[in-house]
Amino acid sequence: NETTHFTSIVIGTGYGGAVSALRLGEAGVDTLMLEMGQLWDKPGPDGKVFCKMTKPDGRAMWFKNRTEAPLSSFLWIDAINRPIDYYAGVLDRINYPNMSVYVGRGVGGGSLVNGGMAVTPPMNYFQEILPEVNTHEMYNKYFPRANQKLQVNTIPNTLLENSPYYRFTRVGRQQAEKAGFKTVTVPNIYDYNYMQQEEAGKVHKSAFGKEVIYGNNGGKRSLDKTYLADALGTGKVTLKYLHRVDAITQNSQGLYQIDVSEINTSGATVAKKTFTCKHLFMCAGSVGSTEMLVRARETGKLPSLPSEVGTHWGNNGNVMTARANHMWHPTGTKQSTIPAMGINDWDNASNPVFAEIAPLPTGFETWISLYLAITKNPERGHFEYDATKQQAVLRWGAHQSQPSINSAKAMFDKINKANTTIYRYDLFGNNKAFADDFTYHPLGGCVLGKATDLYGRIKGYSNLYVNDGALVPGNTGVNPFITITAMAERNIEKIIQEDMLK
Ligand code: FAD
Repeated sequence: NETTHFTSIVIGTGYGGAVSALRLGEAGVDTLMLEMGQLWDKPGPDGKVFCKMTKPDGRAMWFKNRTEAPLSSFLWIDAINRPIDYYAGVLDRINYPNMSVYVGRGVGGGSLVNGGMAVTPPMNYFQEILPEVNTHEMYNKYFPRANQKLQVNTIPNTLLENSPYYRFTRVGRQQAEKAGFKTVTVPNIYDYNYMQQEEAGKVHKSAFGKEVIYGNNGGKRSLDKTYLADALGTGKVTLKYLHRVDAITQNSQGLYQIDVSEINTSGATVAKKTFTCKHLFMCAGSVGSTEMLVRARETGKLPSLPSEVGTHWGNNGNVMTARANHMWHPTGTKQSTIPAMGINDWDNASNPVFAEIAPLPTGFETWISLYLAITKNPERGHFEYDATKQQAVLRWGAHQSQPSINSAKAMFDKINKANTTIYRYDLFGNNKAFADDFTYHPLGGCVLGKATDLYGRIKGYSNLYVNDGALVPGNTGVNPFITITAMAERNIEKIIQEDMLK
């Protein structure tokens, strides 16, 4: 049982964790990063690090016997999900009653599995959700910093307008515009120079080779290639992966004590370890950080945590839907996995929606237009400790997804009407046209200014921080990682100045 002390420990290596570790390392603070997933740098038997969506194996999912993709069927047939080996794969689906949460597992967190859409929220909406945060500073300093460090780039016109791999996007755009909606090009962290080489047949096809939610083998500038590489480059940051934090508490000297299981890729514990630190950064994602903190409070390990920890959780109003196009509007046998456009109706006062025109890369023609809609759903969930499971569980009622459906329906009914098309009912189970029971964008649980002060310092304790998606109050109006990264930059700068350098 190894015990080691660090000045600071960062739990999790997603956006918030990567930003925190880099800035701590640059400030000369010895820092340990703990990540329960793998370091994805070793090729499997097929010579690739990650598997394709269309040919999943154990690498696809975090300790499951079968894949759990968001689309459960095609033509009502259970043809999408496959049996896989139980293994420390890269995508997790945490199934709570009425709401499942997808998250990335591995060094880089969500950046390993996400679509890379790098969207800065509209300024007036950011102000609405986080009125105490200085908007001017965010839009002039921290959003640009996040965009620059994440190497955000924009799709070249030639790809968007001419590539067969973006036909689905052009069809989606044309049909939205026919119904009077505005569309916008969405920046991404995927390297479009690499994508152009994919198109030219010069490199491994990743975005053009059906790779994304189970990882990309090329082109994706995930955090391990940006922030985390720089963090390790400071020489002050130590990374331990396949290290799962089991519990956090405070010892008699006021240091935080972190109990960890080192696991192998089959999930077996190979060592138990204890680390201590002065400054503890919770960056395990909205659900990860919130779950650990609620459990610490309810089991008496950190009894002074405020009651706001575990509240104000939202799904960013996520709802997925699909339309059936006419035969003369094929969406393409070839589809890039990297989305490039959104339908932007966020200014609509009654039904604000920002909908990603999403790919459905099956390799055959489906005539389907797929969308991930982000809506302004005011409903919030909370976490409750379940003593039998020894876990904090998300409480989200089925009815709480209805506002998202109503908004998405208002948009897509209009698009269907203008194009004389209908919804697809065969993709999400139970003849549903709207998949309202999962989210890619978990947000909140330890909200800024409620569970924490205005910089992520948790109330009731010193030197204990949240710096990830758990701080964002349930909704950002757009895909969230740019907001999470920019907020993390803002908070860590203040914390280093005020709590660590003084
Ligand atoms: P995360 O990135 O979730 O990182 C948390 C890390 O902590 C994980 O690596 C996790 O394994 C680790 N961890 C958790 N618990 C423990 C523990 N007990 N011990 C040790 N480690 C632990 N957002 C966008 O902006 N654009 C997109 O296009 C987009 N597409 C998405 C597509 C998919 C399929 C998914 C799943 C998400 C997508 N997102 C997208 C959302 C985005 O990836 C997340 O909002 C973002 O990753 C959250 O960042 P975070 O720092 O809060 O936490």
